[in-house]
Amino acid sequence: MTIKAVTPRVVEPPASLGMGVSVYPSATAMVWPGPGRPHEAVAVPGVRLAPGDVLVEVELATVCGSDVHTVLGHRTAPTPLVLGHEQVGRVVALGRGGAKTTDGHRVALGERVVWSVAVPCGRCGRCRRGLPQKCLSLQKYGHERMRRGWELSGGFATHTHLLDGTPIVAVPEDLPAAVLAPASCSTATVVAALEAAAAIVALDGALVLITGAGMRGLTAAAMATEAGAKVVVSDPVPERREAARLFGAAAVADPRATPDSRAGLASALAKAGGRASAPTVALDFSGSQSAARSLLTVVDVGGVLVLSDSLPEGPDLTLAPEQLVRRLLTIRGVHGYAPRHLEQAVRFLAEAAGTYPFAEQVGAVFPLAEVDAALAATGFPRVAVRPR
Ligand SMILES: [Zn+2]
Ligand SMILES: [Zn+2]
Repeated sequence: MTIKAVTPRVVEPPASLGMGVSVYPSATAMVWPGPGRPHEAVAVPGVRLAPGDVLVEVELATVCGSDVHTVLGHRTAPTPLVLGHEQVGRVVALGRGGAKTTDGHRVALGERVVWSVAVPCGRCGRCRRGLPQKCLSLQKYGHERMRRGWELSGGFATHTHLLDGTPIVAVPEDLPAAVLAPASCSTATVVAALEAAAAIVALDGALVLITGAGMRGLTAAAMATEAGAKVVVSDPVPERREAARLFGAAAVADPRATPDSRAGLASALAKAGGRASAPTVALDFSGSQSAARSLLTVVDVGGVLVLSDSLPEGPDLTLAPEQLVRRLLTIRGVHGYAPRHLEQAVRFLAEAAGTYPFAEQVGAVFPLAEVDAALAATGFPRVAVRPR
């Protein structure tokens, strides 16, 4: 199957209604019917934009690990579903009244933007408590069952229909799409995780241990390094450890090596930390139970452990309460992020893209019609889907 590469054109934004938008050629969403079944291309010729809604033409979408987990059936998802929640695009139509970015400027036609994975209501108790990512009526791009009127609900599509209230952040024109696409999941979540850590231990001068050198771990290494931390990254894959060095890691470790051996964790911590070789900040981005346990073991007195990857079902993370008390430990869970984290993510990428090889982490780019192949691709921190 091929999708014709023709630049879409908004032909009918009827000023009187301000709602009905037709896109020719038709917008296309890649719909995932469920585990073990390939995606199906679904044409969405008309979109109805409610006041405050925005229609964005997707420039590039990256495949997040959670998309892969969903397709493999490791997590349940309502189907049929348009996956994809890391993407960058350009505004092609606005609902009545227009929309605003998180910094308060009016969204313009043609503007290049990223948007939050989550649409909070802004009114419920959780939203008011500053936890919009846990809004009681939360909707998430790339996570909701396809429904009439909101067919373009994910990034694996030519267009995404942004609902009123979606946090939108304008992005620089000169940054590659491959750098920007991960902002709305990977980068923003890392910002939230580091903010949680920094609330307990100042990052400047801290010894930070990161497990997992996928997209998030690499991003965290660069971000913590920029904040003045000495960073050690632990990952079993040699290529990923090498990548971590390019993202600022002062030392890297192989979790399978004996700690005191040359490639072991103790050696890496001593190399980076010198005499103060116990990390005060420990961040897991591997989603591995054993990594989380090892972090809990090595984090220093008064330190903080941040878990931000969903850990698979498995044995509990055991810690004697007495240990938590005597070691003055803080354990933080971070899931999702608030709009300010997405703003910071974009700022960080704009500043750091010249220093760290973010664009190079997107190892392959697939046409939209080959989204199944993109989801099956391995060996890169990210692969991408380019609609046109
Ligand atoms: Zn994600
Ligand atoms: Zn809410």
